[in-house]
Amino acid sequence: MSLNIPNLERNKLLAPFTTYKIGGLADLFVEVHTIDELVHALSEARRNSTPFFLLGCGANILVTDKGFCGLVIRNMANKVTILDSDRVFAESGAIIADLIVQCYNRRLSGFEHFVGIPSTVGGAMWQNLHFLSPDRQRMMFIEEIVQTSRIFTEEGQFRTVGVDYFQFGYDRSILQVRKDVVLDVTFQLSPKPKEEIQAVMDANIVWRNEKQPQLAEYPSCGSVFKKIKDVGAGRLIEQAGLKGMRIGGAEVSRKHANFIINTGNARASDVLQLIKLVQETVKQKLGYTLETEITMIGEL
Ligand SMILES: Cc1cc2nc3c(=O)[nH]c(=O)nc-3n(C[C@H](O)[C@H](O)[C@H](O)COP(=O)(O)OP(=O)(O)OC[C@H]3O[C@@H](n4cnc5c(N)ncnc54)[C@H](O)[C@@H]3O)c2cc1C
Repeated sequence: MSLNIPNLERNKLLAPFTTYKIGGLADLFVEVHTIDELVHALSEARRNSTPFFLLGCGANILVTDKGFCGLVIRNMANKVTILDSDRVFAESGAIIADLIVQCYNRRLSGFEHFVGIPSTVGGAMWQNLHFLSPDRQRMMFIEEIVQTSRIFTEEGQFRTVGVDYFQFGYDRSILQVRKDVVLDVTFQLSPKPKEEIQAVMDANIVWRNEKQPQLAEYPSCGSVFKKIKDVGAGRLIEQAGLKGMRIGGAEVSRKHANFIINTGNARASDVLQLIKLVQETVKQKLGYTLETEITMIGEL
């Protein structure tokens, strides 16, 4: 492989770049800090027909033990600009937690619902980041605050598109079908008193601490399985008696059954075997087919 990319690294361990703290080596790895660097790396990979993977916070992926044969591009292009009284521009490597703080400081509401969720803007667009509304009656999605986005299409063109382009759904967007890359997003927010924004964040943090295993203690990639219509996958896994089930260092969380946690030394193969066991048991005992919502990357 001959890629003309500055600061390219070889045989880079991916585990530290994922919230799971699991995964083998990438043949090639580069951190990009600007949109120009991102587009250059993508173009080089495409020109050279090198398989590539665009990495954000690594919070929704499982990297296999054998690692990734190709180029991993870690997106750290994270410029944020407040455009006017209620619009914010963010590059796709911007971290949602940083956007929350910047918007809070300017009394702008919209991002606070996603407090405590590790994500870049790009990762959020890929799966339509979501969390419960303050009254817990509905799901709120990132699409609700997306105004426009600049993308680098799979054909190598720059386009500015509106929210409809993304065909957002639950855990879904066009980015899972077409290999377009989000370069930046302009968000439409609404002015709100700081106290109201703070109240939403406080309530959501309490909810998360009560119901989900905390990342600092138990590395994970959040929920592993998709919701089936209105039935939560976690509830099915619990009903099937799988809470606390363990293979190697991977365990079905006792706190939230849709989380498979890394208890310290889990390998990707442990997680994959546990995923299979959960799917088979839920199918056999309850008749439901659970599908994973996380992305696996690397060789099996
Ligand atoms: C403890 C915990 C709690 C979580 N809770 C929630 C929750 O409440 N709600 C929720 O929705 N999710 C939740 N998640 C999942 C995760 O945080 C989200 O899916 C997040 O949006 C992933 O963003 P990322 O930057 O880490 O993406 P990554 O995991 O790095 O990548 C995910 C996918 O997005 C693609 N991607 C990244 N950037 C771009 C781009 N610029 N253009 C195109 N594609 C791109 C990647 O190639 C990859 O396919 C949770 C995860 C954890 C660990």
